[in-house]
Amino acid sequence: MKVLILGGTSEARELARICSDERGLDIVSSLAGRVANPRLPVGAVRIGGFGGVEGLRHWLTDNAIDAVVDATHPFAAQVTANAADAAALAGVPLLHVRRPAWRRQPGDLWTIVPDLAAAAKALTPHGERVLLTIGRQGVGAFADRADRHFVIRAIDAPSAPLPPRHKVLLARGPFSFDDELVLMSDHRIDVIVTKNSGGDQTEAKLAAARTAGVPVILIDRPPLPAGARSVENAADAMSWLTGLLPR
Ligand code: NAP
Repeated sequence: MKVLILGGTSEARELARICSDERGLDIVSSLAGRVANPRLPVGAVRIGGFGGVEGLRHWLTDNAIDAVVDATHPFAAQVTANAADAAALAGVPLLHVRRPAWRRQPGDLWTIVPDLAAAAKALTPHGERVLLTIGRQGVGAFADRADRHFVIRAIDAPSAPLPPRHKVLLARGPFSFDDELVLMSDHRIDVIVTKNSGGDQTEAKLAAARTAGVPVILIDRPPLPAGARSVENAADAMSWLTGLLPR
């Protein structure tokens, strides 16, 4: 059975790894090609966009794909929507893997907002120094906030437009609780802006913010497509795939 894994996450790499031991599953992982030096999954990998819904539909058909697992990041809403449409058109079963969202804990000073634009507005009541950990894309939503100083942490350097007062820190998680506390203290951070990505790789900043009493503006996740079938981890995706194998 040929399976396409839409990847770019630790869950997608984990799924490729556990599938590589399973006879009967022929896996190809797909990456968008956003990161200059990506962490590669085991097995076959293709890199780059498909060309929208039609491009993906053709790719599924041309490559005789039997099942698709969308294990992309919870904020990669476009490729997730495209996967839903293309898989339906091609008549191929599709499963989404979505790690659980982070949940508010006692002591958290969270403001939950629906998107990047709302996050930029929500800075107003907070202090001047902002830690921005939303990835490289989307920083432009903060370009007009000349009244704030941004510490922008991303894997690769963000491209313009950037807010006029900023410092870029290039780093790739996972990050430890202690390191996050030091970062917030060294840069005298007043507020953090981040996405509710979930997972343990980048969760330490929330625990550090709780400890340090630093408020967090948390961008809520986009919803999955209507009627989507989803699981929370690679092991459950693997069970779904093996359930599709002919007996
Ligand atoms: P997006 O906005 O949902 O997708 C934009 C376009 O990028 C898609 O229409 C598709 O192009 C292409 N694309 C995205 N993921 C792809 C994949 N795995 N394989 C092939 N093409 C892909 O996605 P994004 O938010 O830019 O994220 C890009 C990648 O980075 C995803 O694979 C995601 O898992 C990973 N990532 C994203 C975030 C985040 O915060 N958004 C964080 C960590 C990792 P075509 O229409 O041409 O097919």
